[in-house]
Amino acid sequence: MQTELEQDTLPLLTPLANPWVKSLLGNKCLLQSMVKEFGSPLNIHHKGSFHQNIQSFQQVAQAHDVELDIFFARKANKCLGFVKEAKRAGIGVDAASLRELTDCLEVGLDPDKIVLTAAIKSKELMELAVDAGVLVTLDNGDEMDLLAAVCEERDKTCPIALRISGFLFEEARPTRFGLPLDQARQILLHEICEGGKYANFRFQGFHFHINGYSTKERSSAICETIALIDELNAYGIQTKFIDIGGGFLVNYLSSESEWTEFHQRLEDSVRGRSKPITHQNDGLGMKYYRGELIGSPHVYPYFNRRPKEKFLQEILRHPFDKTQKIYEALNARKLALRIEPGRSLLDQTGITLAEVVFRKVSNQGENYVGLHMNRTQLKSSSEDFLVDPIYIPLQDEYEEDSYDCFFVGAYCLEQELILKRQMRLPNKPAVGDLVCFVNTAGYMSHFYESQGHLMDLAKNVFFQNESELKDPRSDKY
Ligand SMILES: *Cc1c(COP(=O)(O)O)cnc(C)c1O
Repeated sequence: MQTELEQDTLPLLTPLANPWVKSLLGNKCLLQSMVKEFGSPLNIHHKGSFHQNIQSFQQVAQAHDVELDIFFARKANKCLGFVKEAKRAGIGVDAASLRELTDCLEVGLDPDKIVLTAAIKSKELMELAVDAGVLVTLDNGDEMDLLAAVCEERDKTCPIALRISGFLFEEARPTRFGLPLDQARQILLHEICEGGKYANFRFQGFHFHINGYSTKERSSAICETIALIDELNAYGIQTKFIDIGGGFLVNYLSSESEWTEFHQRLEDSVRGRSKPITHQNDGLGMKYYRGELIGSPHVYPYFNRRPKEKFLQEILRHPFDKTQKIYEALNARKLALRIEPGRSLLDQTGITLAEVVFRKVSNQGENYVGLHMNRTQLKSSSEDFLVDPIYIPLQDEYEEDSYDCFFVGAYCLEQELILKRQMRLPNKPAVGDLVCFVNTAGYMSHFYESQGHLMDLAKNVFFQNESELKDPRSDKY
């Protein structure tokens, strides 16, 4: 039985916020003037946190003596500033489109600090990669034929990696990516060799990117790949690296108990045992049907205990065989480990500010707060962003009276909610107040943003530290 008090609270999901976010949010005048100058919503980025994330991965690799090459997966954020910062830090970039690759080359990244992993590769893209000497990750026969033709036309060779999939643990799991290991073996033995149809390819390593957040699956994929590498080695085919892609977790939340409580409350609401906590009692992927709960919330694990470098460490320390761990097996073969983190390098590197435009009461008696943004500007593949926004009141005096509301946006759709969760503000907001969404630089602000109604995309600004707060510089996409 819940007490009345519990019934009348909304579950909290308190965000983790780096010091730069906290100090910036303390400067309300600055925030207000920035939104005035650049518009709402506004994405504010911070390179120092990006740098810290790089270092945390490198420290774990060093502690295990592993040769680690990091390639920042650019797809998670469009700002050129992070590509420049990657160059400054001496790491590489994973480019997945013509524009991403062009940017990397224009910034002056060394070609061997770039990998091309694009899921769709046009001839123009292949030509640019071959001309620049960028490693291409290959996924299927048609791609290989096209790359071979481009090499032929130019009388050039091209460094390549083969993308593989179909590891034993994932037999039953469907994937659109990669070549089965056996096919990769055949291609290397018979086609990427002197006199073979892909004689112009210079094989460097294997690549995979595994969906989901299991370190165990990644570890066992590494073990299978090493077995293949050993086998090929017996034929004189050398492998320089294994690239395990991205998917390193990020922890967004400060409290595990809030996270657990949220899921319990969502379940209770969907079952009809307590007041809804989401818009129209949306189960975020979970349904209640004929007395049964069906499915589970399709949401990112916003709270977790093994983010970023801890995730990498768990993989490295996984057993390879009875005597060795994975890092020892890699080192014994002088194999470099490559990773392509996107979200995790962007942890704590960005926030999104939005301005309150209206307050209204719906025909159902619910409060709606209109924000000057649309829902594609805070969107990932997760059903909802389960991180509480920070409300920034700008006036001096508010009547203290908590105000439950839904945030809605600019697209003319009934389902245009910025968050599906109901929010409780300490007071009724005023027009012009601000709302800050924390930790949005990885995917949330950029990946799905669209220009419905011909609206402008959000502006992006960078600043390095507090002394430069007053001069945030715009960044080209
Ligand atoms: C998306 C993707 C990444 C980055 O994944 P994150 O979850 O952002 O770390 C890396 N490599 C490939 C091939 C990808 O598709």
